Amino acid sequence: MTNSRIVLDQSRIPTHWYNVIADMPNPPAPVLAPDGKPITPDQLMMIFPESLIMQEVSGERWIPIPEPVREIYKLWRPTPLQRAYRLEQALGTPARIWYKNESVSPAGSHKPNSAVPQAYYNKQAGIKRLSTETGAGQWGSAISLAGQMFGLEVMVYMVRISYDQKPFRRSMMQTWGARVLPSPTNTTRSGSKILAADPESPGSLGIAISEAVEVAAENPDTNYTLGSVLNHVLLHQTVIGLEAKEQMQIAGDYPDVIFAPCGGGSNFGGIAFPFLADKAAGKNIRLVAVEPTSCPTLTRGHYAYDFGDSVGLTPMLRMYTLGHDFVPPGIHAGGLRYHGDSALVSQLYHEKIIEAVAVDQIATFEAGVLFAKTEGIIPAPESNHAIRACIDEALRCKASGEPKCLLFNLSGHGHFDMAAYDRFFRGELEDYAYPQEAIEAALEHLPKVALG
Ligand SMILES: *Cc1c(COP(=O)(O)O)cnc(C)c1O
Repeated sequence: MTNSRIVLDQSRIPTHWYNVIADMPNPPAPVLAPDGKPITPDQLMMIFPESLIMQEVSGERWIPIPEPVREIYKLWRPTPLQRAYRLEQALGTPARIWYKNESVSPAGSHKPNSAVPQAYYNKQAGIKRLSTETGAGQWGSAISLAGQMFGLEVMVYMVRISYDQKPFRRSMMQTWGARVLPSPTNTTRSGSKILAADPESPGSLGIAISEAVEVAAENPDTNYTLGSVLNHVLLHQTVIGLEAKEQMQIAGDYPDVIFAPCGGGSNFGGIAFPFLADKAAGKNIRLVAVEPTSCPTLTRGHYAYDFGDSVGLTPMLRMYTLGHDFVPPGIHAGGLRYHGDSALVSQLYHEKIIEAVAVDQIATFEAGVLFAKTEGIIPAPESNHAIRACIDEALRCKASGEPKCLLFNLSGHGHFDMAAYDRFFRGELEDYAYPQEAIEAALEHLPKVALG
């Protein structure tokens, strides 16, 4: 009997994170303050601890993982690498399909890989409280778990509509001791302003970010945390790819193509970047970020400087963007709705070192259901994007007879997203390509920055 599940001993939890900046052909584009000048570390010190700011700008290839963080990683890491034999059989493909199962964390996704070190470094810096935003609740749950482990208070501004419609994610956060507030609240200036204009506001991620940043900026004992996009978040997520490399080696295999869903880019960077080091050394490997056609940031967005939030409070990043005033189409149920993308992922895409593909919504749920029926695990709707792209490649292998090795990141399970599956089963979901006029219109609203 062949092994279908490669598990590593806990002593093999990585001791260092891998920093892709060391292997990029060009240095990362600078982050700009609202005045258009490169941002200085002090400007970030209001809301982040110095240790994380240093990681954000570091060019060191290897960054040590603190022992207390590795101790907590032990609760679920190393995660299994699994061969999807039953999916391969159902597809009749000669391709070998592997997946890294990040759904085994307590929060059910890859997000605690960064939430735990973020809580740790804030605790070290003497911070008492973390503030953050959450939409569907994945990042909110991860930071609630992590804050609790280091005795930090956690305040989560949860987009009001999700707060009302997704009570179980809220219950998870409360179980781990977090305070969850439906955003907009009347406890911040940003929130009060919105409520004054519209007392029934359903909220948005942009508003929730403004509230969380405002509290962090105004309270010296409070810092802000972000679950994706920033360099240090992608850095922390590289434990995924580092483990996967070792597991593939044990399996005696090596991927020709890697797929991961891409929202802000953290789980894609996490699995892909450690393999990019091999690519930089001449290895032939394709790294594919998969996004929805309804929010096609990399495949159809502009590569430009833009804000991270809708109000324009954050620094500007050079990234692929649909415009910071992007509003996700209501018909979209599959997640991955952020208007921008990680600056590192964006630059690597711009330089054609990585690839991106967009997939239609209904096809992603079909792929998720086939995966659940063959491999058992019900994937998060976000993860379904990677599964779809991987299945499409496996079907191309079937047509051409090529026995390629494919690897994808199962970024999370879908146990708290069954309402999205229900909408799929009821036939309520539609495919929706983001309109070209809206993409062109976004150009008008981008901050005016002269590109060097
Ligand atoms: C948040 C999330 C994503 C997308 O975020 P990235 O930062 O792009 O990784 C994908 N899958 C799951 C399960 C998530 O919770």
